[in-house]
Amino acid sequence: MSELLLSTWSFGTIANAASWPVLAAGGTALDAVVAGATAIEDDETVDCVGVGGTPGAEGVVALDACVMTDPNRCGAVADIRHYPNPTAIARRVMEKTIHVMLVGEGAEQFAAREGFQQRTLLTEAARQRWLKWRQEHGPNDPNGYRGWVPPLNVEDAARARGNAGRVGGAPDEIEDRGQAASHDTVSLLARDRAGALAGGCSTSGMAFKVPGRVGDSPIIGHGVYVDQRAGAAAATGNGELIMGVCGSFLVVELMRQGASPRDACTEVLRRIVDRFELLPNHQVAFIAIAPLERGGAWASAALRPGFVHVVSDERGTRVEPPHFVLLET
Ligand code: ASP
Repeated sequence: MSELLLSTWSFGTIANAASWPVLAAGGTALDAVVAGATAIEDDETVDCVGVGGTPGAEGVVALDACVMTDPNRCGAVADIRHYPNPTAIARRVMEKTIHVMLVGEGAEQFAAREGFQQRTLLTEAARQRWLKWRQEHGPNDPNGYRGWVPPLNVEDAARARGNAGRVGGAPDEIEDRGQAASHDTVSLLARDRAGALAGGCSTSGMAFKVPGRVGDSPIIGHGVYVDQRAGAAAATGNGELIMGVCGSFLVVELMRQGASPRDACTEVLRRIVDRFELLPNHQVAFIAIAPLERGGAWASAALRPGFVHVVSDERGTRVEPPHFVLLET
């Protein structure tokens, strides 16, 4: 059986539950990726993707997403403020335009023309998180944006509270996280029955981001990269670190040169450690799959403890720690 599905963080179980039936029924890897991302985007309890995502500094939720199956087949959108399913829109950009990426107003006009329905993205729970953040750290803070500190991602925040992580997250738990709830992304990689690979990524980006900020997630080569000949990789974590090393592209490029998925992910994390002055709560993780004709191995690796991936294959669906963690804390 060649079907395989990987997603990031424990809420990836929501994606895998929607994606795996697509693969098991003989659907394409791309269909599976879009189905999984859409399921999370529609789930209000996930506070970093789609509806219910955490807003930026001005209280506006802005979504980013991309899909990719090969260097000549990719699509992306960024700064989507009125449509809940940026991954499906990104796929439409890939399939219906000569472009790769649309942003902001133009992307929304395209979504409208394509028949996508608008929905309010800011939930009451997310608004409360933003109000709390604004009171403590926002523009009303005498330090303004300069007082802004990258918050913990949700899994690490849960860990810091002595909680072993979460699946989706009960609304009260999300409330509870307040400032600590921050950034995380669902990144998905799939391999279908025919052995084809696809990747996708969907996020509301870094919590309380400066308006207009776009991270790695929707940028081809940073959040996701797929080359049927060399492999597929996807990222999550502090986008600014990932973008500095073209993270997902580099993972795939190292696999092209013969590295295993695990070694490729680890090498890119080492480069980040080597070139950035890391803050204590910086986190980055990669998932990667080699093409079947190169053995088909897969792996995940993280900068720090706290990250988990979700894998689905013929043995079922499992939430697991990564194969490699570079730093001890
Ligand atoms: N990579 C995403 C971003 O920087 C957030 C995350 O994965 O935690 O927008």
